[in-house]
Amino acid sequence: MSVILTLLAALLATGACAYHRTSLRTWAIATIATTLVVGLLVHAPWTTAILLIIEAAIALPLLLVDFRRRQISAPLLKLFASVTPKLSETEQTALEAGTVGFEGELFSGKPDWHELLKQPKPELSVEEQAFMDGPVEELCSMIDDWQITHELADLPPNVWEFIKKHKFFGMIIPKRYNGLEFSALAHSAVLQKLATMSATVASTVSVPNSLGPAELLLHYGSEEQKNHYLPRLAVGEEIPCFALTGPYAGSDATSIPDVGIVCKQVVDGVETIGFRLTFDKRYITLAPVATVIGLAFRMYDPEHLLGDKEDLGITLALLPRSTPGLQIGRRHFPLNVPFQNGPIHGKDVFVPMSTLIGGPQMAGHGWRMLVEVLSVGRAISLPSNATGALRGAVAAVGAYARMRKQFGLAIARFEGVEEALARIGGLTYATAALSRATAAAVDRGEKPSVPSAIAKYHATEWGRQVAGDAMDVLGGKGVQLGPNNYAGRAWQGVPIAITVEGANIMTRSLMIFGQGAIRCHPYVLKEMQALSISDRDEQLKTFDRLLFGHLGFGVSNAVRSFAMGLTGSRIGESAGDAYTRRYYRKLDRYSAALALCADVFMGVLGGKLKFKEKLSARLGDVLSYLYIASSMLKRYEDTGRPEADRPLLAWAFHQCVWNMQMALDGAIRNFPVRPVSWLLRVLVFPFGRREVPPSDRLGRRVAALITAPSEARDRLMEWVYLTPTANNTVGRMNALLPDVIAAEPVDRKFGKALKTGQFKSHDYLGQLAEAEQAGVLDASEAALLRRVREAVFEFISVDDFDSEELRSAVTRGDKHKLADAA
Ligand SMILES: Cc1cc2nc3c(=O)[nH]c(=O)nc-3n(C[C@H](O)[C@H](O)[C@H](O)COP(=O)(O)OP(=O)(O)OC[C@H]3O[C@@H](n4cnc5c(N)ncnc54)[C@H](O)[C@@H]3O)c2cc1C
Repeated sequence: MSVILTLLAALLATGACAYHRTSLRTWAIATIATTLVVGLLVHAPWTTAILLIIEAAIALPLLLVDFRRRQISAPLLKLFASVTPKLSETEQTALEAGTVGFEGELFSGKPDWHELLKQPKPELSVEEQAFMDGPVEELCSMIDDWQITHELADLPPNVWEFIKKHKFFGMIIPKRYNGLEFSALAHSAVLQKLATMSATVASTVSVPNSLGPAELLLHYGSEEQKNHYLPRLAVGEEIPCFALTGPYAGSDATSIPDVGIVCKQVVDGVETIGFRLTFDKRYITLAPVATVIGLAFRMYDPEHLLGDKEDLGITLALLPRSTPGLQIGRRHFPLNVPFQNGPIHGKDVFVPMSTLIGGPQMAGHGWRMLVEVLSVGRAISLPSNATGALRGAVAAVGAYARMRKQFGLAIARFEGVEEALARIGGLTYATAALSRATAAAVDRGEKPSVPSAIAKYHATEWGRQVAGDAMDVLGGKGVQLGPNNYAGRAWQGVPIAITVEGANIMTRSLMIFGQGAIRCHPYVLKEMQALSISDRDEQLKTFDRLLFGHLGFGVSNAVRSFAMGLTGSRIGESAGDAYTRRYYRKLDRYSAALALCADVFMGVLGGKLKFKEKLSARLGDVLSYLYIASSMLKRYEDTGRPEADRPLLAWAFHQCVWNMQMALDGAIRNFPVRPVSWLLRVLVFPFGRREVPPSDRLGRRVAALITAPSEARDRLMEWVYLTPTANNTVGRMNALLPDVIAAEPVDRKFGKALKTGQFKSHDYLGQLAEAEQAGVLDASEAALLRRVREAVFEFISVDDFDSEELRSAVTRGDKHKLADAA
């Protein structure tokens, strides 16, 4: 017994030090002292002596730094250098681009929640709010999405004019260049509101404010280029597009075959150095109407007119539409969401060096320029458009499910429908928090490369899920297209968001964890960078410090993960109040588990992990859900911990934790080295998988919350265009919702009376009149039922058309005849 007690005491001391991440010295002192004291107290001299020898044998070489460096770190440095895969220039650029924000804490295994909670609450300025209440409201009131998507396949001229005049294209352009200079949050709010009315308008506005000429000029343009282009871009005098993608280079954008050959040509009698461009681009948004084209190509200098290098690499230029030889004009047709999109071609198009963004010294730096600014646009455009669509679904489907009756009940009452409504509410809460957190990171000056990939992927995936749920609940009302259908086009357009700015499968499998693991890990990138230190002594010193820091980190994460797994993360210090503390503790547990698995996976598989996309995607999911859940907790704090939001927070949080558990379980279960997989299973899930998805009861509360007016529902619908104008069915439905709810008890009374068979009429209005005459209902009750019946009819009605109306004005046959005639 005394032997066991002594052993246990030594182990506990070691575990406590690892859990709290004490220094090596503190661990040595604490463990030796504990062994000594407990060993003597329980009279176990032999055990104490053996344990002390083992502890000293471990501690001494580690504490003697010179010895440690020469005997342990030096050979390990050699091994590390030989197994570390050489990064390509493209990978190196991607890894070095961007900054690390709170996501770094999530990878630490012991997040400092104070860092998150002290970040200022993101809010719109007075000027930004005025823009939302003024021009954005007005633009929404002008939008007729059926006219855009079916009749014109374009925005009508007055909408184009309004967008340009009110500088919607200049939200990211500073005021000194006549732009609006909005915060990322305001930029996101504008897109969200527009997305609730038309995906075509939101996409059109988002592109000039995302990765493209304005963003690139702001960061890399010469003063002359900025002064020329930015004021024109701000007011839509110039319409930009950015052309990277081509038939042979989609996701693998670095493989573009488009070339620019440096050469001389006589222009207006003067010999000019420039380059001859040959390119074939497709899918380029705004290309058919663009006046200035940002173009990515690979530059070669075979005659060495610029220097020694022949292959200069990816380079970016800005070409005016009038450039001789540049061909644009025709259009692609992205899934009935007809924002302007089309191909651009050119063969041997000569342009001067002055067209290079930033001038000739930026030749060959194109990939770095793109990757550096990509995260900012990606953090806003797609996540905001998706969030707007989700918020819109709460407004539309929440109201519809309460007014549409079948089997004598509002369809919201059926448990099957309730399930879909709960997903709509819960996922909207999560997506809104995610998109706000990522915009806030941009406003803090970060270039959030990992969070922007998380936001892009999850906002659009949840957009896909909610669009499907919305269509299921709307039934035929969602299917029949026409001016009164507010859901069909959004559902049709979902794959566009999934594909653009990093197609989702690749974003999940390659980017989130691939970048996250190396960028956010406290040691890995620094260890890789240590390999390039030229001074050998300095290199060894740095590597040794990092190596032992890293080992301690690994041991600590193993202990933390196991300990929190044993207690179900029910004990220990954490942030939050009595309600949210358990949530923070759960995130602490999964943060430690992620850090442990990431280290083990990278350590065992090395460079091969890059090709194990199914494993890396799952670890990326854990990082994503940690980030999303933290964003929700921050949002909950920022809004003053509203009790009304708790069902939404709880549903979304449990969903995230459930997803995290399943992702970790999948990653560990499928890890190819079985003994490692078994060990990780014990450390991460000592009692198996204990998390459960949101309960049916919780789902019912969420469904109830999105189908009746409340402050929590209002927060979910923030930035939805709800003004009940003639073009806004959803706004009018929401205006009717209080009456629909007030009519429910009256309707029940009426229904009971109907069952008695006392009325002679066979039609609803006749029966209602009889009920009023019989005193079953008073005049105001009967009037309420009449009014609601009539108003709801409009919202359950669908459009119909003459066959002629549905025929395309120009058929493919006509088109060929026209082309032949031409
Ligand atoms: C409507 C629309 C607008 C666009 N606007 C622009 C624009 O303005 N400018 C511009 O330059 N580009 C634009 N694009 C291009 C877009 O951003 C994508 O980069 C491009 O569509 C992806 O190429 P692809 O469609 O050929 O898909 P592919 O590259 O052929 O990919 C097909 C599938 O393979 C997956 N995949 C590919 N590689 C990997 C990998 N390593 N690991 C896992 N999965 C992988 C992808 O995720 C995808 O699911 C637009 C595209 C569309 C559809």
